[in-house]
Amino acid sequence: MLWEDFINSYWRDWRTGDKNKDRDELEDPEWIAKWLKKHALLETQLPNTIELEQLKKLRSLLGDWVQAIVQGKSMDGEMLKQLNIYMDKGPVTRRMIWKSAEQAEISLLPLHSGWEQVMAEIAASFAEAMLEKEPSRFRICENPDCLWVYYDDTRNRSKRYCDDKACGNLMKVRRFRARKKAEKGSE
Ligand SMILES: [Zn+2]
Repeated sequence: MLWEDFINSYWRDWRTGDKNKDRDELEDPEWIAKWLKKHALLETQLPNTIELEQLKKLRSLLGDWVQAIVQGKSMDGEMLKQLNIYMDKGPVTRRMIWKSAEQAEISLLPLHSGWEQVMAEIAASFAEAMLEKEPSRFRICENPDCLWVYYDDTRNRSKRYCDDKACGNLMKVRRFRARKKAEKGSE
């Protein structure tokens, strides 16, 4: 999902938690180009300094919301208002397009390129997820050095880490070591 990729553009070194290794992908032209392409966004220019600040502001807003949702908060009037402010700046037009050889569908196409339109698309993707998906499945990786945001689509809603092989294993090892240390201490 667009909003997920966007929030996760702030990368933390999940192995060591070394803050010096934090990486903001929004400042990486290559990452931006790949991300725009992946989500079929029309913008071709890199964000300027002001737009970059606006993007970071939106990212931290969405990050705060996800954190609140993980803690049980649901959509409220303030969230609605903020999302509408972002979405107002990215108007869309309706167009019929071919979905396959025989089937057409109505599609919403952005009217403009530009970063305000991109931010409107991000806000819309978050709004859609809130309405059409299950916000109770929004997750933040339980590795405190990672904090990756993802959607838990497992049957029993049990996905605690972004990746069981990466953060899941790492945390298992950490718990094991902590237990060993505690045992040693009590001997
Ligand atoms: Zn993780």
